Amino acid sequence: MDTQQAGDGPQHGQVEPPRDVTRGGGSGAPDGTADLHMHSSHSDGTEAPAEVVAAARRAGMRTMSLTDHDTTSGWAEAAHAARTHGMTFVPGIELSASHEGRSVHVLGYLFDPEHAGLRRATERIRDSRVGRAETMVRNIGRDYDFTWDDVLAQTSDGATVGRPHIADALVARGYAADRSAAFEEILHPRRGYFVSHYAPDPATAVSLIVEAGGVAVIAHPAGRGRMLPPGLLHELIRLGLGGFELGHRENTDEGARALRRLAEEHDLIVTGSSDYHGSGKPNRPGEHTTSDAMLARIIAAGTGSAPVLP
Ligand code: AMP
Ligand code: ZN
Ligand code: FE
Ligand code: FE
Repeated sequence: MDTQQAGDGPQHGQVEPPRDVTRGGGSGAPDGTADLHMHSSHSDGTEAPAEVVAAARRAGMRTMSLTDHDTTSGWAEAAHAARTHGMTFVPGIELSASHEGRSVHVLGYLFDPEHAGLRRATERIRDSRVGRAETMVRNIGRDYDFTWDDVLAQTSDGATVGRPHIADALVARGYAADRSAAFEEILHPRRGYFVSHYAPDPATAVSLIVEAGGVAVIAHPAGRGRMLPPGLLHELIRLGLGGFELGHRENTDEGARALRRLAEEHDLIVTGSSDYHGSGKPNRPGEHTTSDAMLARIIAAGTGSAPVLP
């Protein structure tokens, strides 16, 4: 029996044309077969690493990177799955950072996962995320019948805990229709239950990735309200920032255009990726892609760990 379910996206062997992205703020000729920003159940994606790799393959990708929040624990499974599919696997992470109270995400590729400073930072972030999530659950518990056990039931062992797990628990309890509604109606800072977690500043995050031999790329850098001030961007470039994720559904065209000019001026890498979270977000594998030329630059620049090549 065919285990694929209706509405599950393209079947094996069928390939949806990727939308480009490394060229404009949004549209253009499709030119990439690399999706370098995808999440698994090792953080807040809903699928195991091997399933994420298979989803990238079904979308026509030849290269994928697993970039779970603040953890590398999914690399081994993803690397094995990539070998099985004859795909290129680029080990990655989405490192949490914070600038003046605002969350900044820094993608890291091909760094040494044993680098002591980077390990200490990710362990501290993950620890802080647990305490923060417990506090948020207590806050929500003032108004809803809701406990930490509800969240544990939605979280894989050892996963980096985030608001998406709390969202899934709220959905399971019937307090919200889906993740997005839970964010909008309960988890958004303006609702009063929100608590922040520890995260290094962007300069520290970029420096740690660079010191560990990796390539640092600012994730969704032109999202609404997310543009970093030019002075900070220049500081990050001085510290060795590799590039910007210009192809991402949350970027505005205007912000992406400004960052493209900055990237050209400093000869930086530009990427495009889906930020796939399984069924946790509408983002589809390959909806934005990275060109072969930019992928080659990342692979040439990253010296802390090796990609899996087909
Ligand atoms: P946290 O880092 O724990 O504060 O949670 C933020 C994460 O939640 C982000 O990395 C997103 O992947 C996810 N997220 C943010 N807003 C939404 C939303 N409206 N719907 C689903 N996921 C979201
Ligand atoms: Zn996420
Ligand atoms: Fe992000
Ligand atoms: Fe992400």
